[in-house]
Amino acid sequence: MFKRILISNRGEIAVRIMRAARELGVETVAVFHSVDKEMPFVHYADYAWELTSETPKAGYLDISQIIELAHKSGAEAIHPGYGFLSENAKFSQACIDAGIKFIGPKPHAIEVMGSKTKARELMAAAGVPIVPGTKEKITDMNRLHEIANELVYPVLLKAASGGGGKGMRKVSSPNELESCFESASREALKSFGDDSIYIEKYIENPKHIEIQIIADEHGNYVHLGERDCSVQRRHQKLIEESPSTVLDESLRYKMGEVAIAAAKACNYVNAGTIEFLFDKHKNFYFLEMNTRLQVEHPVTELVTGFDLAKEQIRIAAGEKLSFTQSDVTWKGHAIECRINAEDPFNDFMPDTGKIKYLREPAGKGIRCDSGVESGSTISIYFDSMLAKLIAYGRNRQEAIERMEQALMNYRIKGIKTVIPFHLAVMRHEQFRAGSFDTGFIEQVFDFDSFKKIKDEFAEVIAAITAAGYLKAKAQAQPERRKPKQSKWKDYRFISRRLF
Ligand code: ADP
Repeated sequence: MFKRILISNRGEIAVRIMRAARELGVETVAVFHSVDKEMPFVHYADYAWELTSETPKAGYLDISQIIELAHKSGAEAIHPGYGFLSENAKFSQACIDAGIKFIGPKPHAIEVMGSKTKARELMAAAGVPIVPGTKEKITDMNRLHEIANELVYPVLLKAASGGGGKGMRKVSSPNELESCFESASREALKSFGDDSIYIEKYIENPKHIEIQIIADEHGNYVHLGERDCSVQRRHQKLIEESPSTVLDESLRYKMGEVAIAAAKACNYVNAGTIEFLFDKHKNFYFLEMNTRLQVEHPVTELVTGFDLAKEQIRIAAGEKLSFTQSDVTWKGHAIECRINAEDPFNDFMPDTGKIKYLREPAGKGIRCDSGVESGSTISIYFDSMLAKLIAYGRNRQEAIERMEQALMNYRIKGIKTVIPFHLAVMRHEQFRAGSFDTGFIEQVFDFDSFKKIKDEFAEVIAAITAAGYLKAKAQAQPERRKPKQSKWKDYRFISRRLF
């Protein structure tokens, strides 16, 4: 096992990985930009080295500086977390060249899966079902019209190097096709430095279901079942859960087998996720492979009992997987809500500022993977995710009820978050019934009513805004200000205030 590893990331995922390393008796090194110097992940690490860079983000993307710091700090391996350099084949290669173990897959797997067109070609050859469409980029407009007609509208234009929903355009009729193609290529060029666009059939109202796999360097491959990530806004996941309400044992088995075939096709090592679109007729199609630990990995950990971050470190150290496929069983239900610093009442506008007060929920079945504390400053430089709240229950209903309580008890002052939105989803009939797909937020969730019921969420909103919890609570429920009539009422008033 390694003596010391470096985590080339920040926020909640850096803390998460450090916890896993500690349990394995491995020392941790944080690298940080000066804007992050007071963040919990810096203090949590055994050692911390400052990155120097023009912009804060650039530091976390500076391959040579990170490798130099790994050498200086005596780290034998680097965990990239997610985002930043986690899916950068050059970084994985640079680690190998520098004699440092990259805690993740080999450069080849990252490279092939990093291109949606290359990945589609490889998957089709491996017998993995892909969304109907092209496996190469399109340059000729006549050909584009021809294929779109063959696929039957609506179709989806996608960036070959895409990610984060960028460079993606749904096209419903031939007269929009060329203008959508142009704007998609422009966006792709701006975001990824590559304007290659390909075309897929637009699957109506699918579910996003992904399979977690893990593989060691000794040829052992295991899948850990599915995560349903269909609650999305602008193609970005907001809520994830496991198991999915639409999969039975035989489908889980089938999708697991296909996911393993996909991973084997690129000689995959370490933890990875195969994403699928799942249609109304229970057909599933390969969407892409994420060659890293996913944000939503905790839901899988809770229903299977395995620690994916620990397993990743063990695998990188050359150990065999500590379990086989027959050891994997699924118990209970887990749901994760991404706690983003965004205003759900104002088109999810990112919010910045200082967290004046923070009390994260706890209790049975509640896990909060957080990267912030009271006093933390949330800047414009990074992703808006502050923490992940995960609820586990014996069944889906219990998990939802626990999540609801936990969201109500989440206290953040000084910054707006999406907590009220999550609460509204947890209370939504259709979500509770499990009958939702990727169109849920945009087509079913009623934002107008949500905005109108802002007052109903006054307590929660007050807790997450600078307005102050007690002040807004008193305004929302003025009767509490009436003179108290009995000792009992007095006691309740005080205890609720403290609560
Ligand atoms: P990105 O890498 O940009 O995030 P993905 O290919 O992973 O893009 O797709 C993100 C989301 O976009 C999916 O979860 C799904 O909601 C939607 N999507 C992607 N491809 C299709 C498709 N062919 N039909 C319908 N929805 C799609």
